[in-house]
Parts: sequence; C-alpha cells; structure tokens
Amino acid sequence: TDLDTADEAVRSTCDDATTCKRYATSKGYWTDPYVQYFVRSVGERKAPEINRGYYARVQGMNHLLDAFLRKTKCDCQIVNLGAGLDTTFWRLKDENLMPRKYFEVDFPMIAARKIHNIKTKPPLSKPLIETHSTDSLLLDGHSLDSDRYCIIGADLRDIPGLDDKLKKFHLNPELPTLFLSECVLVYMTPDQSSKLVNWASVTFHTAMFINYEQVNMLDRFGQVMIENLQRRQCNLAGVEVCQSLESQKERFLKTGWENADALDMMTVYSVIPQDDVARIERLEFLDEKELLQQLLQHYSICWATKDKLKLGLSQVAF
Ligand code: SAM
Repeated sequence: TDLDTADEAVRSTCDDATTCKRYATSKGYWTDPYVQYFVRSVGERKAPEINRGYYARVQGMNHLLDAFLRKTKCDCQIVNLGAGLDTTFWRLKDENLMPRKYFEVDFPMIAARKIHNIKTKPPLSKPLIETHSTDSLLLDGHSLDSDRYCIIGADLRDIPGLDDKLKKFHLNPELPTLFLSECVLVYMTPDQSSKLVNWASVTFHTAMFINYEQVNMLDRFGQVMIENLQRRQCNLAGVEVCQSLESQKERFLKTGWENADALDMMTVYSVIPQDDVARIERLEFLDEKELLQQLLQHYSICWATKDKLKLGLSQVAF
C-alpha cells in the first residue's frame, strides 16, 4: 500500500544518514571507528558543504548530549528515538561517559538490521559484552537487551506500544533521562510528534529532549529541500513544525516542558569550538560559501528540559 511505501522510504533515510557520516569521517571531519561496520564502503563523493553540515550536526548534538551527562554525572539514561544505525553508544563507552543504560528505538526492520550487524561484528559486540555482568544477554532477531545497551523495535507513532516495550526493558521513570531525535520527528504529523514529546514530559520528572531537524522551510530553498524528499516518496508529515525556531520550541512548551531553546545550525556552527572548525575547513576547498550558509540556516537544534531534581539542566546550552 501507499502507507507501506511511505514507511519504507522513511526507513531508507537511515542509510543516507549513515552513508554521509561514513563519508565525512573518511575525510577526517571527525572520528568514528564504528560507522564502518554499518556501511561497508565509503561510497560516492559528497559535496564539501554536505560534509560540513554533517560535521555541525554531529558536533552540535554531541555538545548538548555530553553537557547532559556532565550535569547528571552519568547517573541517567538515554533514549535515542529513531536511532537508525547511530554509533553514539560506542563513543560513550570509549570516552568513559556511559549512562546507566542507553536505549535505542527504531522500526523493527531497522532494529533487526542493527542487531544483525552487532552480532556478526566483534568490534561492535565486544564493548557490549564487556559492559554486561550476567549470562542473561538477550540477543534475538528483534531486540537486544544487555545491562547497559538496549535496542527496541517499535513505531514511535504508537505511544502505548512504545511505553510498554520501554518498561519491559526497564526504562526507569525516576532517573534523569535524555531523549534524542535526529531527523526523525519531521516524518510524523505534528499531532504524533506532540504526543511523543508529551509522553516524555509526563513520564519523566527530570529530563531533557534534544531534537535536530529542518527549519525555515517556507522559503524557496526550503521548498526545494521538501521537493527533493518528496520525490523519494518520503512523507514529510511534520514539516509544519519546521517553519521556524519558534514553532520548534512551541512543540515542547505546549506539552509540559519547562524550558525550550532553539538555534539554527548556522549559529551552532559559529559557536562550536572554532579551532576545530578551522581545521575541518582546511580539509576540503569550498567555493560557494553561500551554499553552506543556506544549508545551515535550514536545520536546527531544539532542546527542552524539565528539572524536578534541580540538576541545573536549564543551563545546558552552547
Ligand atoms: N537518527 C539517526 C541519525 O541521525 O543518524 C537516523 C536518522 S534517519 C534520517 C530517520 C530514522 O528515523 C530512520 O532510521 C527511521 O526508520 C526512523 N523513524 C522514522 N519514523 C519512525 C517511526 N514512526 N517509528 C520508528 N522509527 C522511525
């Protein structure tokens, strides 16, 4: 059916993200020794502005994520929504920054693929086994559950189903919890994404939500971005919320979050450590500076907090 086609197109976006991250790391934009186990070949060349855009995305997300881990002293859990083939679990293990437990949710088909990769690649499975204490490691086709890492196949549009599965795998509502969504909410209707962020705010008293996605989509450049995704049958049901930084923040402020902030990626690019930005700008020559600016102005990071335990989460910023 059309719906299956649309979901399949959305699922395929996780390969795009991983392929672009693989390419950018092969050029030295940042280091990720694990992404190679999820996409075998480096693939075709990507334009320098795409690589710089992914660099800003990864640095921006990591900056806020690491700040949350410092505030909570890692006594927390992380839930990556629509995680795809993301490698953050392994980075945190290597940097000694592991939360108590790291959860990932994606469609069952993507979860199964990721689990298959982990099972068959020792550099992926070893860190997982090392952080597991008993012999009860669950590794079947559809879910993975260890002491510190859990992958769940679920549809983020089905809140009761999501809630059930996360509870089954011991997500603890009493612990400070960080939610991540990186290029995910745009594929759900505004109503569906509001219900998801509302569920997060009513279920957890001390929490942060970091969302990366398109913004300023009403102008000409934004319309071209939308057309490109639609050509691939991707259903951009949530594009309404990608009008402005204000509408991004509103989604959280209307659903029980105490604080919300949002920046476009052009701003993020100018506030992340500039010595490293200077380093990556030397990696590849970029002729069209304006193209990069336009691209960065059409993505944003929005983060929201609630803080019953008064850990100072509202101070997390750039
Ligand atoms: N967050 C990863 C990253 O940035 O590398 C993957 C991003 S990819 C563009 C979007 C991901 O969201 C895909 O893996 C897709 O399967 C997942 N996704 C989208 N809608 C979903 C839904 N309703 N339920 C579960 N996963 C969903």
